[in-house]
Amino acid sequence: MAVQVDKKVVFMGVGILVGVIGIAIASRWLYKKLDIQTKLKLRQLRPEVRKKVEKFLIKAQKAGIQLKVTSAYRDCEEQNKLYAQGRTAPGAIVTNAKCGQSDHNVGVAVDIVPIVDGRANYKVPESVWNTIGAIGESVGLSWGGRWTSFKDRPHFYDRGGKSIAQLWTEQQNLANLA
Ligand SMILES: [Zn+2]
Repeated sequence: MAVQVDKKVVFMGVGILVGVIGIAIASRWLYKKLDIQTKLKLRQLRPEVRKKVEKFLIKAQKAGIQLKVTSAYRDCEEQNKLYAQGRTAPGAIVTNAKCGQSDHNVGVAVDIVPIVDGRANYKVPESVWNTIGAIGESVGLSWGGRWTSFKDRPHFYDRGGKSIAQLWTEQQNLANLA
């Protein structure tokens, strides 16, 4: 007995398959265009956060905005050095977080900077920052640009519904097991 196959269904199936493969290849190609420092920093993130950040960077590229990751995971030494800046060390205050109090200490955040004409440029127009923020939020990241007390527009994070303190305790417990 011959099985009747509707040609329309076959065409539609092939069409969808080609579409999916096309999107996968395009994303792969855009990922390759990210700079090496960004790719290395992405590896420091928790896997579920990394996926979102990759999506974010690729989606920004599609919108014509090249982003570079300047910071992902920070250990205690690095965090305390940053905290000292503007307090006991020269420079402007850049963070209110001591070690264990930053998204960066638990691997759930990145700081990004737009690349304009091959150079890092924080002084892009407000509208560009807002576009970047919206793209980050569209992939499920939270944006430091929404903070009111300390607006941190380069900062994107995903705590997965937990607090930094909870994530920090979890991380310390795992470190003690190792
Ligand atoms: Zn940050």
